Amino acid sequence: MAGIVRGGGLVGHAVRKPLTRGLLTGGGGGLDLSAALAGPAAPKTADVVVIGGGSGGIACANNLAERGLEVALVDHVRPSTQGTTYGFGGTCVNVGCIPKYLFHRAASLRDEVNMDGPAFGLGPTPRLADSKDAWSTVVQTVQNHVRSLSFSYAANVHANVSLVRSRAVGVDPEPDSRSVEVANAGKSNRIEARQGVILAMGGRPHIPDHIPGAKTHGITSDDIFSLNKPPGKTLCVGGSYVSLEIAGFLAGLGFDTTVAVRSRPLRGAAFDVQCADKVVELLGAHGARVAQVEPIRLERDGPDAPIRVSLRHSDGSTTEESFDTVLFGTGRAPEVTDLGLDKAGVTFDQSSGKVLVDDRFETSREGIFALGDCALTPIDAPELTPVAIRQADVLADLIVPVANGDRKPARFLDTAVAELIGRERAASLMVPSTVFTPIEYGRVGLGEDAACDLLGPDNVETYIMEWQSLHVSASHRTAHDGSEYPRQCLAKVVCHRGGDDPAQQRVIGLHFVGPAAGETMQGLALAVNLGATKEDLFDRVLGIHPTNAEAFVDLSITTRSGQDYVQQGGCA
Ligand code: FAD
Repeated sequence: MAGIVRGGGLVGHAVRKPLTRGLLTGGGGGLDLSAALAGPAAPKTADVVVIGGGSGGIACANNLAERGLEVALVDHVRPSTQGTTYGFGGTCVNVGCIPKYLFHRAASLRDEVNMDGPAFGLGPTPRLADSKDAWSTVVQTVQNHVRSLSFSYAANVHANVSLVRSRAVGVDPEPDSRSVEVANAGKSNRIEARQGVILAMGGRPHIPDHIPGAKTHGITSDDIFSLNKPPGKTLCVGGSYVSLEIAGFLAGLGFDTTVAVRSRPLRGAAFDVQCADKVVELLGAHGARVAQVEPIRLERDGPDAPIRVSLRHSDGSTTEESFDTVLFGTGRAPEVTDLGLDKAGVTFDQSSGKVLVDDRFETSREGIFALGDCALTPIDAPELTPVAIRQADVLADLIVPVANGDRKPARFLDTAVAELIGRERAASLMVPSTVFTPIEYGRVGLGEDAACDLLGPDNVETYIMEWQSLHVSASHRTAHDGSEYPRQCLAKVVCHRGGDDPAQQRVIGLHFVGPAAGETMQGLALAVNLGATKEDLFDRVLGIHPTNAEAFVDLSITTRSGQDYVQQGGCA
């Protein structure tokens, strides 16, 4: 590697300062912390300049500062197409994981009281769609929490970190210089990076260019969590997890919601096709339709008028429908184009636009590194907060190796699964994740279809069970439209067959659609990442009765057997 600091031991400024608030400089949009945390102008030099104060950038800056380096952390939020801006902390805190989970929570509370409450003497609750106040109460609760988190992130940067609230607008192309130009309110400064530059600029929602009216009338996940009026009848465009999650909580809060997907939702080897179908079925039961349509034009007569959307159907026909809100969940694009990085010798992936890095997070330009959502690593690491943070930990260790043993493992996993499906694929797929739709979908490893494609169907054994949760059965829950509520739980364990002994089959994928699947999956992912076999994980362990997750220790029907895998009756 042509890195910034090589060799063992702690280098740079060895004196550790206590973890107190850092310097806050410049302006920036959203939460204005400058009154609370006033500080001097951007420093002229730093050991390392980190561009982007999101999950990865903050973790890396604090980590390097903890190791004694002087760090300038440059962060600025460009307004969304609708002018929404937000505070320090990046996507996860402000417009990602945290607000979406809180909206999911709000919708789940309301849904449960409405659907099951009457059987237990509770509810029902009024539709949020009928009350501007109710929507604004949810927005306010979420935004208050988001602001407090954003504030504490800024207040708790390490004392060796200078927080520069400005936009990085250029990286010096000269080979013997590493400086970053930052601009704020028409003024620009140059920060000389003595040792290196770390790109952690994340990504922003992408609205397709080819749909007339989309950028003018459409909104994105950057806007929805602080929308100042109820969204009303909403079209969520795209089959991404972001689109499905937002559709799920809007439907749960009582809004008429449709998801427009071109083909299948939740595509990719990480997702199991049958589980994705279950997610769609349950979204329907909670009031969100998923339709195979594509918006081709958006028109609106005035800011408060409905948006007329021309929709192309899968048979090629077109119709028009009006919506109050059209939200694009059509993927994200990195924010890396305006820094002149190409002139500095940094190369990009043509299709994703991400910065190409090696497995030590170094770009093609010596001394410039990239991590998190803006970087394409050799393992094509998923765009998730824990991934960005782990990359930051690993990069900090590479830059300033720590001799005293508090080093994090450089890989996400190193299990037997890697031997089966390849280290790079395993390192990416074995990162667990959850789709926070009304009924959650948690997963780790390969979906059944991807496993069959990769290893051949004869080498894959999938154990499966579908059942109705106790949550639903006692209350005789009905679906949103009054029809029978679908079975709520689907568990699949995808194994590599290896030999003849079923107990020795290695688990290479585990998928669960059911209540609190995210919580369940965190524990199960540990076992899978430790290289569990069917016997280790399921046959030796006793269930916790009466949970949904106990089904995992009781799976015996395989998809190959063709037997009915729907469990009827029983006490859970
Ligand atoms: P970011 O957090 O995006 O931070 C980048 C920062 O750099 C931003 O503040 C940006 O404004 C700033 N910046 C960009 N360009 C410049 C510049 N030129 N100068 C200065 N600053 C700049 N992940 C999960 O793990 N779990 C979830 O449940 C989850 N839910 C999500 C829900 C939604 C709706 C979205 C959008 C994302 C979700 N994610 C989730 C993904 C997660 O938020 C990202 O993977 C994570 O935030 C990436 O961190 P990062 O450090 O790479 O970038």
